[in-house]
Amino acid sequence: MNKVIVDVDSTLFGFDVPLYKLLVQMNVNIPIPSNWHKWCFWEDYMEESDFYKAVNSIHSNQLSYSPFSYARELLQSLHRKGLYVVIASHRDNDQLGVLKKWLEIYDLYYDEIHVSHDKKILFDENVKYLIDDCPETITYALEKGIKCISILYSWNKQLIGTGIVFKKNLKEIYNMVKTGEM
Ligand SMILES: [Mg+2]
Repeated sequence: MNKVIVDVDSTLFGFDVPLYKLLVQMNVNIPIPSNWHKWCFWEDYMEESDFYKAVNSIHSNQLSYSPFSYARELLQSLHRKGLYVVIASHRDNDQLGVLKKWLEIYDLYYDEIHVSHDKKILFDENVKYLIDDCPETITYALEKGIKCISILYSWNKQLIGTGIVFKKNLKEIYNMVKTGEM
């Protein structure tokens, strides 16, 4: 069984804008998302516990956010290709219920949902593709020979040239499936 692992935050919906809105309330000097040039851009501006409070707040309110255009079509096309679709999100385990509800409300296909603070346990020999924006996860998957695809952001653009396929949006990733690139 060939698997594809699909991330949620900044992959299936826009996570950066709601996050920025919360972070700027804590520190007005926090840069805007287009200036988040590293994964831990927030480190110089706030405590880790405050940052994760904001992250958890967005996860708790998951139902307030719409998925990106073509999220539904992309997941359905991966399923139709015969891939086993694992939705994997870095979030607290008590957020699983609301995430599941969100996926169901928006008719987003999945075979399995994984919620944890370590996605690396998912990368077995059956995983053929990763769709995720996180540099650490992508680097790990690339080392395992997994084909990685991501939307290009300021916080992952340093990976250009490493073998990852960057796309502008989910429509372009969906087109990869349609044309047989995935
Ligand atoms: Mg993400």
